[in-house]
Amino acid sequence: MGDCIFCRIVEKQIPSKIVYEDDSILAFHDIDAKAPVHILIIPKEHIPSINDVKPQNCDVIARIFSVIPQIVENLGVKNSGYRVVANSGSDAGQSVNHLHFHVLGGRTLSWPPG
Ligand code: AMP
Repeated sequence: MGDCIFCRIVEKQIPSKIVYEDDSILAFHDIDAKAPVHILIIPKEHIPSINDVKPQNCDVIARIFSVIPQIVENLGVKNSGYRVVANSGSDAGQSVNHLHFHVLGGRTLSWPPG
């Protein structure tokens, strides 16, 4: 986790536009937004990917999903719709090896994704 960019965001060594924070999770705007609303929600603990999720991580994963309704309401997309995406591995295009959930909305999102 030494040079993990998201760990550095958690430590406030790199600035981010935070929309939600508590003891175990952080949500902030994606620096390269793919939609009018594009938030990343991460566990503060360094978990590299979905492949590394263990039973002891259940609480933080559940917590992430439990705050999504409030975050999307604050961002104005709760009723219009949004998508939650977690890329894992190279075929999915994971570029940051710290578990994160994209929340995308604010426009019609194509399906299936490319
Ligand atoms: P993924 O490609 O699924 O691993 O998603 C990583 C996301 O992190 C991309 O959408 C990037 O735009 C985003 N990202 C990378 N660096 C930063 C940063 N410093 N602040 C906010 N978002 C970032």
